[in-house]
Amino acid sequence: PGPAPAGLLGRLFKSDAAPAPEAPRRVLDDAMLESLEELLIASDMGVDTALRVTANLAQGRMGRRMSAPEIKAALAAEIARIMEPVARPLPIYAKRPQVVLIVGVNGSGKTTTIGKLASQFRAAGKSVVIAAGDTFRAAAVEQLQVWGERAGVPVLTAPEGSDPASLAFDAMTRAQESGADLLMIDTAGRLQNRADLMEELSKIVRVIRKKDPEAPHNTLLVLDATTGQNALLQVEMFRKLADVSGLVMTKLDGTAKGGVLVALADRFGLPIHAIGVGEQIDDLQPFDPDEFARALVG
Ligand code: GDP
Repeated sequence: PGPAPAGLLGRLFKSDAAPAPEAPRRVLDDAMLESLEELLIASDMGVDTALRVTANLAQGRMGRRMSAPEIKAALAAEIARIMEPVARPLPIYAKRPQVVLIVGVNGSGKTTTIGKLASQFRAAGKSVVIAAGDTFRAAAVEQLQVWGERAGVPVLTAPEGSDPASLAFDAMTRAQESGADLLMIDTAGRLQNRADLMEELSKIVRVIRKKDPEAPHNTLLVLDATTGQNALLQVEMFRKLADVSGLVMTKLDGTAKGGVLVALADRFGLPIHAIGVGEQIDDLQPFDPDEFARALVG
């Protein structure tokens, strides 16, 4: 099941609901563009990006009589054009272990995403190690252990409240010694004290670089798509805390607000490595810009 946010254009073209011999046409004029803008903004695309999309749509098409399917196709194509450059699977390095740091606010889907990724890499024949770096949240560690079991991947833990950097160092050692292909390090997502979190993240990076100066090879920011425009603020914030190299967007199965992905692509250009489309282990998919744009437009 791909992401299927509710269609945006239904309201504009209500008359199309009953099959007509020929699709009714409407002139693409300022009023129509304004209605489209409103719909795009309602999908959490943000004003700037919505205006850019409709401006691109208008180019060479103003005054033309278009049917709903024609407008939908043109709109989807404009959205896909913004999304294509960011649709990039997680780059795989020859380096062993490839070290992936996972960051994001609590509840965004970090644990679930780590479990899903672990399962995918295992299925591809890779050996994976997970470090439960959110040592202050016992429940997070337990959840990660459950996911590790599901994926058939060892989860390294440390006593509650202990130094995450020290766990990360041990995990690096273990991953190197066992010749693991991939080490995923979970991190804390509490934002109450950002200075603390920044220090915690930079210490993890400092420590793992003692073992491999190029680590982490990726820093994935996990974002919950249902938080809408808030996702933009989270990117801004986490880019100050860590060297974010790409995004995973979760919960795209449950939202009509997927427009925020377009705003993210437009504003930051960070790669979207994968999307979460459910709570099960297989519910992680590569990001497909055309499919996404068509689903968003409806
Ligand atoms: P963490 O606190 O960042 O580690 O977040 P979790 O991985 O524990 O996820 C928080 C909640 O979101 C859990 O109930 C997950 O089942 C749910 N969740 C995570 N990813 C997805 C997704 O792609 N779709 C849906 N529907 N739920 C998700």
